Amino acid sequence: MISLPHFLDAQPDTPCKQRPQLFVDSSRLIPLKPARDAAKALCAACNVRTACADYAIDNGLRDGIYGGLTVSERDQLARQRVTADD
Ligand code: SF4
Repeated sequence: MISLPHFLDAQPDTPCKQRPQLFVDSSRLIPLKPARDAAKALCAACNVRTACADYAIDNGLRDGIYGGLTVSERDQLARQRVTADD
């Protein structure tokens, strides 16, 4: 069973709830490329994308695709934000 973050419990029907296996792979930090690309495409049309990425960054989620971003992409975004605040 694949579990998605608590954040998503409060969201209406997001694409990741329909196909969670594309977003989280329990055997690896980042889903394999075909699933990853499909997840990113679904995130691109999601209306809570920014809030989802923020949740993942703020809560230190170290796996999966959230807000259309892998963990390394979320780390990069977080670093850019820190630099922009300086
Ligand atoms: S941005 Fe992606 S992971 Fe986040 S709620 Fe939307 S579909 Fe799910």
